[in-house]
Amino acid sequence: MVEMIDGRKVAKEVNAATKAKVEELAKKGVTPGLAVILVGDNQASQRYVHMKEKKAVELGINSIMKTFPADVSEATLIDTIKSLNNDSAVNGILVQAPLPAHIDEQKVIETIKPEKDVDGFHPINVGNLFLNLDKKYPVACTPKGIMTLLEKYNVNLDGAKVVIVGRSSIVGKPMLALMLNANATVTDVHSHTKNLKDYTRDADVVVSAVGKSNMLTDGDFKPGAYVIDVGQNLDENGKLVGDVNYNPETSKIGYITPVPGGVGPMTIATLMQQTVEMCEWSL
Ligand code: NDP
Repeated sequence: MVEMIDGRKVAKEVNAATKAKVEELAKKGVTPGLAVILVGDNQASQRYVHMKEKKAVELGINSIMKTFPADVSEATLIDTIKSLNNDSAVNGILVQAPLPAHIDEQKVIETIKPEKDVDGFHPINVGNLFLNLDKKYPVACTPKGIMTLLEKYNVNLDGAKVVIVGRSSIVGKPMLALMLNANATVTDVHSHTKNLKDYTRDADVVVSAVGKSNMLTDGDFKPGAYVIDVGQNLDENGKLVGDVNYNPETSKIGYITPVPGGVGPMTIATLMQQTVEMCEWSL
């Protein structure tokens, strides 16, 4: 029987450690601040932002919300970010994706000061990560949270065969760098990969970040493999499911993150953790 990797439980532990750090900072008169920029009325974005805001408040982080209508100009967004860059009460700035088509998302990301780029998407931070530099910098929260999960479950990545499905800037690529930095042997497969399942079947660890339900099924893994399902998809009944379709009773997968309750809570916990780390680094 497949065992679950309990993201909710580990996220609780991470959040408790974050709260303790916030309390320590409070003794010095410091409150970490997270600014979240939301554009338009995309329901999923609103839900994510609400969850982030709620968690920040719960942990004692100052949450600064900036909401704009879908027709906001790029110049207004850029000016807002510049003013947050100069606000010493703000340690992390997050722009909720997706942005409307008339706004250049990359330009917006590059306006955020690298030391306030809590999502780790700025090219400077991506470069730091790929160079594996020995200094403090933010890293994309979903892959960073996955590394925390694997560490908590004592997964030995040194020399492990890791296959990442997907190569987006927010999950696949930073995941690849983190795995490489952890001395795994990494293969990244994507929509142009031929015979993709030959790779997943040979892997000790598979991270699937595609966004398609039934992308992978039971027979697509090595028995005993660790499977990290990042996908968040709605099935035909509107139920949230991951990329991996498996039978929990008969599957030969060793360990898997459930959806919901796996990677999702870790992403938010890591965002909070990183906001507080960035506050500490700034002192
Ligand atoms: P993107 O759409 O940006 O990237 C998807 C990737 O999957 C691309 O690299 C694409 O390849 C690849 N892909 C698409 N179809 C196939 C296919 N048939 N075979 C192989 N590869 C394929 O998505 P994101 O990375 O932003 O997100 C992926 C999923 O993870 C989504 O469901 C998203 O909701 C979820 N997510 C969950 C988070 C969480 O906290 N739980 C956080 C972030 C994302 P190519 O590059 O060739 O087009």
